[in-house]
Amino acid sequence: MKALQMIGFDADDTLWHSEGYFDAAHAEFEAVLGRYVDLSQAAVQDRLLATERVNIRLFGYGAKGMALSMVETAIAMTDARISAADIHRIVELAKSILSHPVELLPGVREAVSAVAGDRPVVLITKGDLFHQERKIEESGLGDLFHRIEIVTEKDERNYARLLREFGVEPARFAMVGNSIKSDVIPVLALGGYAVHVPYRLTSALERAEVDAAHPRFAAIAALAELPTALARFEHAPPP
Ligand SMILES: [Mg+2]
Repeated sequence: MKALQMIGFDADDTLWHSEGYFDAAHAEFEAVLGRYVDLSQAAVQDRLLATERVNIRLFGYGAKGMALSMVETAIAMTDARISAADIHRIVELAKSILSHPVELLPGVREAVSAVAGDRPVVLITKGDLFHQERKIEESGLGDLFHRIEIVTEKDERNYARLLREFGVEPARFAMVGNSIKSDVIPVLALGGYAVHVPYRLTSALERAEVDAAHPRFAAIAALAELPTALARFEHAPPP
């Protein structure tokens, strides 16, 4: 029997591109505010991030919550001078994120199929429910996954609940994803394994550090290296 009974995959920036769209929307937002404030003084991105950090507990992750936080930040930073036309531009930024085509990262289908041939794989993601459902559908990967879970926050509590539902001990589960904060730290804390696959951009909301020498942690450059990383976990003595 395989020591690892189930493998979890993150979705955004692990299976397909995502953060680049948010990054571009943030730059557009700053350009809109540049009509009202001196960008060299205003620290627009810092203000937006501070608003998002507070609002995440109410709105959750994703483009819709981002747009509401942008509207709130814009009204505050312009002393309510922002025009309705510019608020409309901000709403359009969210719509363009929500409707962008799904673009898989290289080698994703092959890597997920290879792992799914050995044991059940599950998709664990957070963000807008509508948006995530559409991306999963459009990706054509849905059938590879035994379960698809869209949660509000990828924390220890939710991972523990999901693993209980799946009937899998944390020590027999590995999570694969691009976020140290959401895909690595909570799973290691529960006693599971984690494989980090960095993406070229990391959301400011996802930045965190992990001890790279942790015995149940591996970092790989691309999903093509995943089967080898999992095999190393299987053959290492239990930590
Ligand atoms: Mg991700």
